[in-house]
Amino acid sequence: MRAEFQRPRGTQDILPPTSQKMEQIRRIAVDTAQRFGYLLVETPVFEQTPVFMRVGESTDIVQHERYSFTDTGGVDLTLRPEGTAAIARAYVENGMFNQPQPVRLCYYGPMFRRERPQALRYRQHTQFGAELYGSVQPEADAEVILLACAVVEKVGLPDPVIRVNSIGCSKCRPRYREALIGYYQEQRSQLCPDCQTRINTNPLRLLDCKIDIAIREQAPDIKEFWCEDCSAHYSQLTELLVLSGRQVSRDPFLVRGLDYYNRTVFEIGHPSMGSQAALFGGGRYDGLATALDGPESTPAVGFGMGIERLLSVVEKNFEILPLTRVYVAHLPGFEGPSLVLAEQLRREGFPAESDLLRRSLKAQLRDAGRRSGVVVIVGGQEWEQGEVGVKWLENGVQMTVKREELSDLLRRQSE
Ligand SMILES: [Zn+2]
Ligand SMILES: [Zn+2]
Repeated sequence: MRAEFQRPRGTQDILPPTSQKMEQIRRIAVDTAQRFGYLLVETPVFEQTPVFMRVGESTDIVQHERYSFTDTGGVDLTLRPEGTAAIARAYVENGMFNQPQPVRLCYYGPMFRRERPQALRYRQHTQFGAELYGSVQPEADAEVILLACAVVEKVGLPDPVIRVNSIGCSKCRPRYREALIGYYQEQRSQLCPDCQTRINTNPLRLLDCKIDIAIREQAPDIKEFWCEDCSAHYSQLTELLVLSGRQVSRDPFLVRGLDYYNRTVFEIGHPSMGSQAALFGGGRYDGLATALDGPESTPAVGFGMGIERLLSVVEKNFEILPLTRVYVAHLPGFEGPSLVLAEQLRREGFPAESDLLRRSLKAQLRDAGRRSGVVVIVGGQEWEQGEVGVKWLENGVQMTVKREELSDLLRRQSE
C-alpha cells in the first residue's frame, strides 16, 4: 500500500477482539458511573481553541502537540486533547449550575494529542472520565475516587491502590511556592535544564521531574504549609476512603502545576504494576469553570482514565463475554432456507449467522467450529418434514427437532 493511503502515524486501527474488549470496558465504565449517579455527556470532539488554551491539563501541552486548525470560516478549532475542559465548557454553557447540585457527569470518547510515537501513546486515544460539580466537601472527592476504583475493579483489577496529596488552596499554596522556589534556587546548578526553567514558570512541577529525584527528597513538604481547612479536607477524605475499605497512601510529590487546581490530587494504581506506576489520575479544580466564564464559585472534582492503557494492563485475563452464536449450516441447494432461518432466529433474539459462500457442509462445520457454540443444519428429508438438525460443538451432542421447537431448545440450552 502506498504510504499516503496508510493510517496517520501514531494512530491505530482497533480490530476484533481488541475492539470487543474496549466496548466491554466502555459498558462497564458507563454502567458503573450510572450506578453512582453519573450520567453520560457527549461533547463535540473539537472545540474552539481558547477552551483548551485557558483551562485543562492541556495548558501544559506544548503548542505543537495540539491538533489545531482554522476552518474555512476562519474559526480557530482544536481536537480535544482531554475531557475535563470540554465538560467544564458544557457545564457552564448549558447553565447546569442552575440545576440542583451536585451535578454528576461522565464522558467517554476519543482524545487527540500529537505525541511522539511510542508504546501505548497514541495520537488518538480513548478516555473515560467523571466530573462532579457543585460540592467543596471531602465527601465529593471521596465519591469520585471510589467510582474510579470501582471501574478499575470491575474490569478485573481487584484492590486498586490510591495515592493522594493535597496541593493546598489559594490561601496556603503561595507560601509553599515561595519555600519551594527558595529550596530549588539553592540547588539550581544541579538541576536538569527543564527544571531550571520550571523554577520560574511552574515551581510545583519541579517535584514531578523524573531526573532530579534525589533533590526533591529534601524539598519542603506542602503538608507543613496546609491551612487548617486544607488539612481538615485532606484528613477527612483519606478517612472516608479507608472507612470504605480502600488502600490509601500519601504521595508528597503528586502535584498539578495549574492555578485552578486545588487541594486533592490523586492517582490510582495497582499492586501488579509496581508501587509508583499509575493507571490514571484526577483531582479537584474549583477554579476551572470560573475560568470559562462560569459563576464565581464552581467547585469540581474528577478523573480521566486512558482506556488503551487500562486494557493493556487487564488484557491478559480479560475474557470477552461469550456470544452463544448459532450457525445455520445447509445442505447443497438449501442456501435460501438457511439464510431465512438465521434471520428468523435473530428476530427471536439469538445471535445467528449463515454460510454466504455456498460451501460444502463439511467446510461450513469447520467454519462454524471457529466461532459458534451450536450449529443448526438445514436441508434434506428432515427439512421436508419440518425438522432441522442441531449439533453442539462443545460436546458433539446431536439431535433432530421440529422447526417450531428449535427456539425453545436453544433457549433452554443457553440458560
Ligand atoms: Zn489551604
Ligand atoms: Zn528536572
